[in-house]
Amino acid sequence: MLKAWFGIKLWQRVLGALLLGVLAGLYLGEGAESIRWIGDLFIRAIRMLIVPLIFFSLVSGIAALGDLKKLGNVGGKALGLFLFTALTSITLGLTMGTIFEPGVGLDVSLAEGADIITPPDLSWTQRLLDLIPENPIMTMAEGQILPLIVFAVLFGVSLLMAGEETAPIVRAVDAGAAVMQQMTMIVMELTPFGVFALMAWVTGTFGFEALLPLATMVALNYAGCFIIILVVYPLILRTIAKLPVMDFYRGIFDAQAVAFSTASSNAALPVTLRCVQRNLGVSRSVSSFVIALGATINMNGTAMYLGLVAVFGAQLFGIELTMTSYLLIALTATLGSVGAAGIPGSGLIMMSLVLSAIGVPLETIAFVAGINHIMDMMRTMTNVTGDATVAVAVGRMAGEIDVEEYESADDI
Ligand code: ASP
Repeated sequence: MLKAWFGIKLWQRVLGALLLGVLAGLYLGEGAESIRWIGDLFIRAIRMLIVPLIFFSLVSGIAALGDLKKLGNVGGKALGLFLFTALTSITLGLTMGTIFEPGVGLDVSLAEGADIITPPDLSWTQRLLDLIPENPIMTMAEGQILPLIVFAVLFGVSLLMAGEETAPIVRAVDAGAAVMQQMTMIVMELTPFGVFALMAWVTGTFGFEALLPLATMVALNYAGCFIIILVVYPLILRTIAKLPVMDFYRGIFDAQAVAFSTASSNAALPVTLRCVQRNLGVSRSVSSFVIALGATINMNGTAMYLGLVAVFGAQLFGIELTMTSYLLIALTATLGSVGAAGIPGSGLIMMSLVLSAIGVPLETIAFVAGINHIMDMMRTMTNVTGDATVAVAVGRMAGEIDVEEYESADDI
């Protein structure tokens, strides 16, 4: 029995679990809440990996790069691609919102009495301060990813600069990274169970009725994400990475399934890292840097959605959007997608930033809050796929990808 189970490739077990989870959710309805703990257990197990995995992988990856110029090169290329994909995604959201008018003809009074979310402080000084960990141990204990990345990068850079003397630490950090990767593999075996329970819970709890009034919005959110996944990313893979697209999707499936079922880029991070390294052959240095950074700042699904919601809100309240509004949306949605944490629902909070910049009432958020989770799942899958795409493209440009491994992308 066990042999038969492990004989099936992990991605196939995960796919089966996803489909069965939907069926179980339809059958159990709200009763599916009773198995949610299995999904929560899975999420806790992968969350447990995040801090030590990021720290060890990043430091050991930077040490393996062996050269600071290369680090700057990789970082610059990754940031350039993050920005390009974010702007493309926002443009897509704006275009779809303008063509399909999801906010026209809806009853505004539905949003009355809604809780108003105050826009987060995204001033550049505050963002800059937030990046610097006052105390790295506290940062780790609190699981704050960006300051942790800053600390790990500085640690790795200092290791490189200090030279020979640090060799024992480099070896220890390499060993730590190997242990964490092994632990990721163990935890990933829980994926089919976690995905099954989470899908059952989502399907059972958010019935189709809740979706109906805003069906256009849900459909546009899914369509936009599909366009990004099926057109934008393949274009990058074909033109910049010059690599086959199918192998990419075969290699990244586990990460997509975890992203979809947990609606959290952070939760998917260990699995994404594993898929990109193991299945797609991207070097440890490039993958750990791009994936850790991307999980927090590269959110194309979220960016597209923020553009879409801005147009939706304007239509809902009959506000005309000028050229300046579109530029403001592009700016704030980019900031919002960078600022959104890789956790469920964070895109919703960032909406307040975009809406207030263009003078659209924040009640708009109340309209979409009820169906946010269903849309968040698809956005998160898009976000995570984008991180992997950029990791492959940067890996290819920097000569840090094993093409043979990529082309034989298979299960873990
Ligand atoms: N939940 C998403 C993520 O973790 C962010 C969002 O809410 O759009 O990537």
